[in-house]
Amino acid sequence: MSKEFDVPPTLVKPTFLARIFGRNGDGPHKPHLRRTLSREDRFMLRHAALIEQLFDFLAHSGLDPIPDHYELAWHYLTCASASQRAMVETCMLEHGGIDPAQAADLLDRIRTAISERELQSMVDDAREKMNEAAALTDRSGRQVAEFGDALGESAAVFIKGGGSDADQAAQIRKLQNLTAEMIERAAQAEGQLKARSKAISQLRSRLAQTQKQALSDPLTNLPNRRAFEACLKGAIDNADHSGQPLSVAFCDIDFFKRINDTHGHATGDRVIHHVAEILNKASSAKVHVARHGGEEFALVFEQMSASGSVATIDQIRLRMSAKRLVAKDTMLPIGEVTLSAGVAQLHSGESSTALLARADQALYEAKNSGRDRVCVAI
Ligand code: GH3
Ligand code: MG
Ligand code: MG
Repeated sequence: MSKEFDVPPTLVKPTFLARIFGRNGDGPHKPHLRRTLSREDRFMLRHAALIEQLFDFLAHSGLDPIPDHYELAWHYLTCASASQRAMVETCMLEHGGIDPAQAADLLDRIRTAISERELQSMVDDAREKMNEAAALTDRSGRQVAEFGDALGESAAVFIKGGGSDADQAAQIRKLQNLTAEMIERAAQAEGQLKARSKAISQLRSRLAQTQKQALSDPLTNLPNRRAFEACLKGAIDNADHSGQPLSVAFCDIDFFKRINDTHGHATGDRVIHHVAEILNKASSAKVHVARHGGEEFALVFEQMSASGSVATIDQIRLRMSAKRLVAKDTMLPIGEVTLSAGVAQLHSGESSTALLARADQALYEAKNSGRDRVCVAI
């Protein structure tokens, strides 16, 4: 070995173990107590503090130990952002605990934020892959140009001629070799590009899927509250410019808690799904239906006055009253499921928040005046 590759003993790099553990790996052995424990015991040992905190969280908030509530507690304790933690704590302080509807709402917001975070990391990932592909295309382009030059030089020598037969044969071989090498490299580059473009198209479809997840509600497949708010803002902009009417509605299932209490949460979920399907039949290019949260839905009616919206919701209510639902697992009748709704028509220059507050107030009136009806905001 030549001198320049010799490394003085003092500069010998630390071993892999030493780098990872900050020691040489030959220190005193600790007894492997953990190996005598079962897998579950080891799990409990590792996570004892967290498990205890999970139970504390459920006890303090008054939430039942069901999977959604564990999930909320786990997010709160492990990975929620400061503002998400504040959201949970404010709810606890204001209400002395968290009720199931509030828990569902908090979890919904946390999950949406998480899909947004995933979305961002996928966008970054996609950008990086695109840059790699661009660099690769650039490199193979440069390689082709270099080969072109070499080929040109070799061909020039060959055309000029003047050499012996042996020289000419050597030139031909050189040309053949260069061409074969170039074909080989081009095939390699093409293979790499194909692999990259496959990775990119996979990323694209994952990106589209995550984007959809961030904006849609998993139970009903309807757009979620975030998508609804964006849609409403756009619709208000259009209405402001065109001078066309616009109205919104909140629709809330009546006495839904009773359905949950009598038939269980899973049946409650199926009822929400069923109502969503009926509501969604009204959706069109100008009517947008979303799940606003829990058992509440929100609708935007573009180019429609309050009276038009009321007529549409009355049709939906009629369809619902024609159905008599039965719990799938027990075959017990759930009976008629009714909706109350509040409708508000956009005032000139009104913000989305003010419009929604009026629709909410109208829904409140519909509930207070007996339910199973639509009220219109002044
Ligand atoms: P009202 O007629 O006044 O609207 O009464 P309600 O019982 O429908 O309303 P309340 O707000 O008292 O109860 C709503 C219930 O909906 C409480 C909550 O646990 C339940 N809930 C919220 N989201 C979901 C969900 O995704 N699935 C199920 N099964 N229940 C949910
Ligand atoms: Mg309700
Ligand atoms: Mg409600």
